[in-house]
Amino acid sequence: MAEELDIRPVTHLTTDAIGQPGKRIFYIQGWHESRTVTLIVEKIQIQSLAVGLEQFLAEIQQKYPDLAEASSEYEEEKMRISPPVDPMFRVGELGLGYDEDNDLVVLVIKEQIGEEEDAENMRIVRFWCSRSQVRAMCHWGMEVAARGRPICPQCGEPMDPEGHFCPKKNGHKE
Ligand SMILES: [Zn+2]
Repeated sequence: MAEELDIRPVTHLTTDAIGQPGKRIFYIQGWHESRTVTLIVEKIQIQSLAVGLEQFLAEIQQKYPDLAEASSEYEEEKMRISPPVDPMFRVGELGLGYDEDNDLVVLVIKEQIGEEEDAENMRIVRFWCSRSQVRAMCHWGMEVAARGRPICPQCGEPMDPEGHFCPKKNGHKE
C-alpha cells in the first residue's frame, strides 16, 4: 500500500536551494506545527509550478470574485529551509487542487519513481495551504531560482564554481 501523507493545515511552506552555485539542490518544505516534511525538487519544477499557480489562482478569483486576492509577500529570513534537511523523496509530479469550502489550496506531490518500480508504491504528500502561503512560496522560489550562478563582469555569462573560460579574455580561466 502506498504511503499518503496529508499535512493539513500547513503552518509554514517554503522552498530553498542549498549548495554551491551551479550545483544547488532545491527543496520544498512544509511545516505542521513543529514537524517538517522536506522533499527534493528540480529548479524547473518550482519555476513551472509558479507559472501554473498564477493561472490557477486567476481561475479561482474569476469563479469567486468576492475572495480577497492572495498575497505574494514573504519575509526572506523565514523562507530559509530549516534543519533537519532529511528529504522524504524526490518529487516526480506537482499538482494543484482547491477546497472551495475551506479556501485551501492543496499541493499534491507525487514521488518520482523509476520505470522498474511499482507505481503502487509511489508515495504522495499533500500540503494543504492558504492561497497566500503557496503564492508567497512560488514568488520566493522564483527569486531563489534566479539567483543561481554569479555573472561574469567581463562577458556577462554565468560563471561556474570551478572557474570560467571567459571569451572576453580569450578563454583564459579566471
Ligand atoms: Zn567571462
